Amino acid sequence: MPGSFSIGRIGGIRIEINASWLIILVLLTISLATSWFPTTIPGLRTTAYIGLGFVASILLFVSVLLHELAHSLVARAKGLPVNSITLFIFGGVSNLEQEPRTAGAEFQLSIVGPLVSIIIGIVSLLIAAVLPGIRALDALLSYLGVTNILLGIFNLIPGFPLDGGRVLRSIIWGATGNLRAATQASTIIGQIVAYLFILAGILEVFGGNIFGGIWIGFIGWFLLNAARTANMQSMLEGMFRGVTVGQAMQPAYATVEANRTLEQLVDGVLLPTGARTVPVTQMGRFAGIISLAEIRHYPRDQWNQVTVGQAMVPADQLRAVAPGQSLNDALPLMVGHERDILPVVDLDGQLLGILSRDGIVHLIEIRRGLNIPHPARAGGDQQLPHAS
Ligand SMILES: [Zn+2]
Repeated sequence: MPGSFSIGRIGGIRIEINASWLIILVLLTISLATSWFPTTIPGLRTTAYIGLGFVASILLFVSVLLHELAHSLVARAKGLPVNSITLFIFGGVSNLEQEPRTAGAEFQLSIVGPLVSIIIGIVSLLIAAVLPGIRALDALLSYLGVTNILLGIFNLIPGFPLDGGRVLRSIIWGATGNLRAATQASTIIGQIVAYLFILAGILEVFGGNIFGGIWIGFIGWFLLNAARTANMQSMLEGMFRGVTVGQAMQPAYATVEANRTLEQLVDGVLLPTGARTVPVTQMGRFAGIISLAEIRHYPRDQWNQVTVGQAMVPADQLRAVAPGQSLNDALPLMVGHERDILPVVDLDGQLLGILSRDGIVHLIEIRRGLNIPHPARAGGDQQLPHAS
């Protein structure tokens, strides 16, 4: 996610915080310090309320992090590599590299998050009930308890991209064996849920709760986008089922030698060909990739001194794909990068070609133009961002 910074690792999983999260941290602290704490424990100083509001906000985000860790750890136990967890304005996201291969795995990794939230909520409420009345602690734990339980229940609403939507999808998938139909059903319900949120937000605004209404509407808008994207990805995935990287790749028309300067690259390759990302070769072998982002690291007056080899992303830091790999497995590797191509490399590290977004769009057009049906294959793989 752009605008995110890493705060460390837990069990090898990178934990990131998005800048938007800081906004919500401030808003939540202010809201708790001016409403929840003054009404439940009156008579304290303003600074005490702000302190309590801040602690409660941090603990809530720790709870969200535990929710995401639960998803991520179950995913890893199912053999799915987990890149990172990002906390952002609407909660958390576990960034999985692949999607579950079976309905059972998807069911377990989706339901565990809400379960953890509900358990944290119940435990907080129990501790609040058992501990003799320290009022501040009581107010803090009650807030955490109720909020986590609501969060767990909210996430169980059966519309994609909420966890409940994935649970529903896994149940339909398991019952029918048809992943696409299951995705379609859960994303349609997800869109209905999203529209209900937007409608509720509008009604709240007209009812006078302007901030709350805008917030609810915003969540609805976020859910709507995620559900639509998921639906589209599911359609693309159906279209590419059975297609390999080798069938979709193109020859690398433009390449550059590592010992060329950035100036030679820009004037001799990028401008004449219109390519934005170019594979780099060193003595005929694939050495890395260079794109506009890497070139922009250097001020213009250094372009005639810096070589492509110095500026490129070297091959060992890149995800290369093999020609026999399925296109559906390769596509998620292209998402979220400014680099719009993936190198296709054989076992000896020789560059065979490139997989580019433009090339894939081309492929879609040709298949559609010639009316080539996609080969059906029961229960394939799919790539959907997991949000919670
Ligand atoms: Zn979740």
